[in-house]
Amino acid sequence: MSLFLGKMRQHINGHKELSEHKDVVKVDAGKEVLIPLFATHSTNFDVFVKAGDHVKVGTKLAQCNDRMIVPIYASVSGVVTDIARKCMHATLKPVAHIAIENDGKYETTQAFAPLDYRQASKAELVEFMKNAGIVGCGGACFPTYIKYSGDAAIDTLIINAVECEPYITSDYKMVEAHMEQMLLGADAMKKTAGARRVCIAVKVSHPELIEQLKQACAKWEGMEVAAVADVYPMGWEKTLVQTILKKTYSRLPSEVGAIVNNASTAIALADALTKGMPLCEKIVTVSGDGVKNPVNVQVRIGTSAKTIIDAIGGYAAEEVMLISGGPMMGKTIVNDQFVIDRAVNALTVLRVKAYDDVNCLRCGMCSDHCPAGLQPVRIAQAVNAKDKDMLLRLCANECVECGLCTYICPSRLNVTENVRNGKRQTMAALKK
Ligand code: SF4
Ligand code: SF4
Repeated sequence: MSLFLGKMRQHINGHKELSEHKDVVKVDAGKEVLIPLFATHSTNFDVFVKAGDHVKVGTKLAQCNDRMIVPIYASVSGVVTDIARKCMHATLKPVAHIAIENDGKYETTQAFAPLDYRQASKAELVEFMKNAGIVGCGGACFPTYIKYSGDAAIDTLIINAVECEPYITSDYKMVEAHMEQMLLGADAMKKTAGARRVCIAVKVSHPELIEQLKQACAKWEGMEVAAVADVYPMGWEKTLVQTILKKTYSRLPSEVGAIVNNASTAIALADALTKGMPLCEKIVTVSGDGVKNPVNVQVRIGTSAKTIIDAIGGYAAEEVMLISGGPMMGKTIVNDQFVIDRAVNALTVLRVKAYDDVNCLRCGMCSDHCPAGLQPVRIAQAVNAKDKDMLLRLCANECVECGLCTYICPSRLNVTENVRNGKRQTMAALKK
């Protein structure tokens, strides 16, 4: 099925007004931060500190040396109290965390030497991205250096500032606050990729931001703004590449000469290049009808969701659903003890509403709207029947977990969860 079909791109109520026009609130990390030892689905880390060690903002704590290299740095100064505390991670997995007792001084050590990207070679820039621990800030947490390591000819770098999930406005706030840094980071990515141009994708519903960006881009060579439709899932790489380049690809955007990076990732790279510092702080949207004061917060990596929600006035109802991320692709988490990791860009808190249980109406809307062209009901049936061959035939592994099938379902069934289940089983079968 074609991604150009209208049903597969929905305008959905964004609720962005809840947080978009409010100032960002700085929230202190509190007495303790927990740094998750988690990167690209791996928990296999070499830890360089021990309990009792004093660390500063920027101290290298650990490094993932699995299939991909991802170093982890301290976001506060203080004393390490535990190097393997098991807690729930924002991805719903129990993960070991390094606990740091925050001394509140935020003493800093330069984590690595800054780099003049204009004078650096591609190999030096890729190595720099790796050592700085630059990962995708748009939710995936994929190490950025991998995207730039290949030999494919790249023509266009797309900077994704679309933020198509409802409620989330943290990327807009980041771009507004750090526009020049974002352009510098994008220029460094352009150079690393050997690309001819940079397209910064923003939804048409943000005319002021588009105008500011256009003016700022005029000072840079090969930079332009692409105003894209206010539909979901416009922020998905495949939709974005198709919209901007009018090309489709099978596995990676590099097949059609493109690399896609999130706007906040470009800012993180610029900070690393100019200051020699990793990502220690970020802007996170806390929104939904389940919090008293929806707002964007600036927080240290490792700050707990509870600390943040308490600091902005608390929950607005007794019974709420807390989602790490947005309501479409985020994960519902049973308590607020988990911490902000580098890829978490939002906490969505929704009041729990009671719905009558309704059966599947066989209306086919979930299939009609799936941007990956899947058949969610047949996948759910295959999951229930434990039919792995059928799951493979139905390509359940191609689900991008966009949440549209649940959003569109008139019976309010959690269709996405069924498909996610099928996806996990299919991926496991493919690995064997
Ligand atoms: S969550 Fe998966 S199955 Fe559902 S619409 Fe999105 S891609 Fe399709
Ligand atoms: S959208 Fe809901 S009711 Fe309709 S076929 Fe899919 S699961 Fe069934």
